[in-house]
Amino acid sequence: SNKELEQFAYVASHDLKEPLRMVTSYVQLLQKRYADKLDSDANDFINFAVQGAKRMYELINGLLEYSRIIIKETEIEEVNIEEIIEEALFMLKVKIEQKQAIIKKQGDFPKIRSNRIHITRLFQNLIDNSLKFCKEKPVIEIGVEKKDGNYLFYVRDNGIGIRQEYKERIFDIFQRINPREEYEGTGIGLSICKKIVEKYKGKIWVESVGEGKGSTFYFILPEKF
Ligand code: ADP
Repeated sequence: SNKELEQFAYVASHDLKEPLRMVTSYVQLLQKRYADKLDSDANDFINFAVQGAKRMYELINGLLEYSRIIIKETEIEEVNIEEIIEEALFMLKVKIEQKQAIIKKQGDFPKIRSNRIHITRLFQNLIDNSLKFCKEKPVIEIGVEKKDGNYLFYVRDNGIGIRQEYKERIFDIFQRINPREEYEGTGIGLSICKKIVEKYKGKIWVESVGEGKGSTFYFILPEKF
């Protein structure tokens, strides 16, 4: 069940950190102290081990973040979505400037009772992906429409697009389509988005005409959850 998975993810990520910390620090020590005493093969092997440990650390942190998405009544407040989007864009400022991305906002963004950290993370992950999975200058549209008493939000990009057969799988934890040498990442971002949206009794999906034609991520959040 979801609850069991959450509990497992929390315990696993928490308990895995300690031994990983030990592995990381000893391999790094090896790297520091013995770099000039070993041949280049040995140095390469140590580098791979350091990189592997770093990656595992990122995955565990992602898992921990995933397992910690819970709704606490005391953290719920009236959240101004326009402000949230600005906050998410601010956190991505460096990437936006590096890629010279154009960001457009459309619609009247509402206020929604929610946890601001969750909703910021949701927008941040989606916009971050739109910036990342793009071969040319990113043009990203963030919008909202009111629909049957709910809010339909979207984040649209002109990026690499997503093939039909992957549209559901990308929301599963650790699932990625593109090789890591091409686009870095852990495959956790969208699973976090999905979990957040579902906690607020909404839903999330993606539409894409096909590879190379951009993607639009939609999510619905109820006015009151
Ligand atoms: P990560 O970004 O760390 O790979 P995510 O869970 O955020 O993990 O995304 C999972 C996969 O979904 C990505 O690896 C990528 O293949 C695909 N994806 C996500 N967002 C987009 C996008 N805007 N355009 C194209 N592909 C995307």
